[in-house]
Amino acid sequence: MWTCALCNQTFKNSNQIHYCGDKTINDFLIGKSETTVGLFNHFILKYNEIGDIKLQATKSMIALVANKRFAYIIKLGKDFMDVVFPFNEPFDDNYCFRKIAAVPESNDYNHHLRIYLPEDVNDEVITYMKKAYINGKNI
Ligand SMILES: [Zn+2]
Repeated sequence: MWTCALCNQTFKNSNQIHYCGDKTINDFLIGKSETTVGLFNHFILKYNEIGDIKLQATKSMIALVANKRFAYIIKLGKDFMDVVFPFNEPFDDNYCFRKIAAVPESNDYNHHLRIYLPEDVNDEVITYMKKAYINGKNI
């Protein structure tokens, strides 16, 4: 365990890159529409069915964490939310991702998902949510 001297957060890896600020998850939800907050809650609920996850506020987004970060809520929009799953290969054969982008200077491909409706978290999306979670568990 490593404790950051600045913010007192503890991490598994020494000098873990993180956000030392005091932004909370609530800060991201303040002022958002009922629809968007509903989507956020639905998504987190679905993830809790997959396994234990923690949320971490970063400067600009919410990270989903198991043993390490494995997905990011990058935007809470007017009536939608955007989630990014980094995978080490592009899963081009899908119906759910609007964009897959190689991350510069890494082996990751960011898979961009936009959720408008609770039903958008369908079986296909859940398959990728599980895949990301397994990466986060470091299994
Ligand atoms: Zn810190």
